[in-house]
Amino acid sequence: MMNLPQTIRDTITHESKTLTDLALKIHANPEIAYEEHKACKWQVTILKKWGWKVTHPVGKLDTAYRAESGKGKPVFAFLAEYDALRDLGHGCGHNLIAPVALGAGKALANLLRDQKIQGKVVILGTPAEESAGGKLKMIKAGALKGIDAAIMAHPASKTGPDLGTNAIRRLHVSFAGKAAHASCSPEKGLNALDGVMLLFQGVNAWRQHLPEASRVHGIVTDGGVAPNIVPESASCTFFLRSSDDAYLDDMVARFEDMVKGAGLMTGCKPHVDHDPMAYKALRANMPLCEAYVAAANRIGFKARMPDGPGRGSSDFGDVSHELPGAHVGFAITRRKTPGHSIAFRKAACSDYALKQMLRAAEALALVGGRFFAEPEFQGQIAEEFRRTVK
Ligand SMILES: [Zn+2]
Ligand SMILES: [Zn+2]
Repeated sequence: MMNLPQTIRDTITHESKTLTDLALKIHANPEIAYEEHKACKWQVTILKKWGWKVTHPVGKLDTAYRAESGKGKPVFAFLAEYDALRDLGHGCGHNLIAPVALGAGKALANLLRDQKIQGKVVILGTPAEESAGGKLKMIKAGALKGIDAAIMAHPASKTGPDLGTNAIRRLHVSFAGKAAHASCSPEKGLNALDGVMLLFQGVNAWRQHLPEASRVHGIVTDGGVAPNIVPESASCTFFLRSSDDAYLDDMVARFEDMVKGAGLMTGCKPHVDHDPMAYKALRANMPLCEAYVAAANRIGFKARMPDGPGRGSSDFGDVSHELPGAHVGFAITRRKTPGHSIAFRKAACSDYALKQMLRAAEALALVGGRFFAEPEFQGQIAEEFRRTVK
């Protein structure tokens, strides 16, 4: 174990220009969900040059890839994201996630080779995290098969693991009423907008009785055409979230009852569309999370376990139901900077962020190195997965 940090550091130092160039190129060429053709091609080119076995595309996903080095069991994976936000570019800093995954993968593969340790390192290129759930499609395509544990590092304002994210369901609701002149013959109309407004009232009354970890938030997407026309149609979109997947099912059922109620009260016919973009809650694998905190601190980060789970949602949640996984953050700003902002986009290409990116790759490689070197650690990770997910 003595030369573990040195092999990793040497690899990252050797590849630092390749990784930094990749981060800056992706940042300067933002591509949104399933349009990440350049970002994907640049990564595949590097991986092939390194001699990795690359599958690309994955299933029907042109901007996804799966790369492997080594053979046999166990198998440890690093996940890469590289999609941008519409109009905002890399305001979530995904341009840094891909180089971290590549750097960590290369460093770990070199370590296994040098120390003659058996096993396989996988890098998964996962598109469309921000808006279209690429990981869900990769799970369906079988891209996660055979992987024993996985980790992904996301840029943030502080360094530490996510101890949870909320499951999310997106519901599009519409009401069909009957148009009429709102002043001359209102008695002939059925007001679809009233259906939407009563649904919001129902949700607002419900909110008081929801557990702390639940969230319901909606917007009106169609509220009619003109005040002198009784709205014939009206619609709204709601996001429902909970840290508990089963409880979220109950919430959806209750919400659908409210939709029916609003329909009955107004005489308008309701319809609910379930968006296929539904993410599961993250089940953080605690031994992996703790190993990341220890590794990051060893590299020089000020990492710590957070006080509680987060309340956002990510398609990594679904990954964590398939295999033991950790979704972790590494600081790219010295001050707290909100994600999805112009300030965070600027931070994502700063010299400081690029330096932190290389350190994060080392921290992830260290966690992977421990996974291969310590069967007991592998056992703890598998046991935690059985206990919390299976
Ligand atoms: Zn984001
Ligand atoms: Zn993100």
